[in-house]
Amino acid sequence: TRRTLVAANWKMNGNKETVASLLTAFKSGMNGSSDVAVFPPALYVAQAAELLKDTDIAYGVQNVSAEASGAFTGELSLSMVKEFDCQYALIGHSERRELFGETDAQIAQKVKATLESGVIPMLCIGETLAQRESGVTEDVVRTQIQAVLDAVGIAAFDTIVVAYEPVWAIGTGKTASPEQAQEVHAFIRGMLAAEDAAVAAKTRILYGGSVKAASAEALFGQPDIDGGLVGGASLIADEFVAICNAAK
Ligand code: 13P
Repeated sequence: TRRTLVAANWKMNGNKETVASLLTAFKSGMNGSSDVAVFPPALYVAQAAELLKDTDIAYGVQNVSAEASGAFTGELSLSMVKEFDCQYALIGHSERRELFGETDAQIAQKVKATLESGVIPMLCIGETLAQRESGVTEDVVRTQIQAVLDAVGIAAFDTIVVAYEPVWAIGTGKTASPEQAQEVHAFIRGMLAAEDAAVAAKTRILYGGSVKAASAEALFGQPDIDGGLVGGASLIADEFVAICNAAK
């Protein structure tokens, strides 16, 4: 059985004060029914690490470099991520793909480097509205997953967390219905199961895109939805705590 995992992606939001107030509220509010992870902007990871030590709340970075070190201005290496004890790294968020031009090949290399460092990659995939409307959702998701499978193999999906985030549902208030999300989650798990059924049964597949407290329980109740990756609602303490506590 897969334990529910709920992650907060704060994106480029907040400051020292909100990091402290949100994490303080998260620490006191969680009922332990789900695993919880937080992705602050990288400058605040050290602050989060301090606030979250001796808690069960994990934390990580929103992006990493696949390079070990060197002349890569503005980038962060996995040895840096490790030095601050990050358990997770988000890889291939749709905003990284769309706004910063990250390709499937680059994302696959980031997943590979992250696994090799011992940090857990949270691999984000998902189709745009135009792709959904033209009926190619499964093709898009298959291509995104296949690039990573080719680079790291199926066994790595024991560790990798997949986050299915339909781009049309991100920040729009238009959550995929539980059935719509379940359909794609089942497709993803089926694709992994075709490689190795035992691994696929263990892979955590999270849903992201306008998750709110009101929609969390029905989403998490779907057989192949193993939690959520939450943007906007993770910046509201009560809302995020309620989402985490909605897991059974
Ligand atoms: P929203 O929850 O704001 O739609 O963002 C989802 C997301 O992109 C999380 O990574």
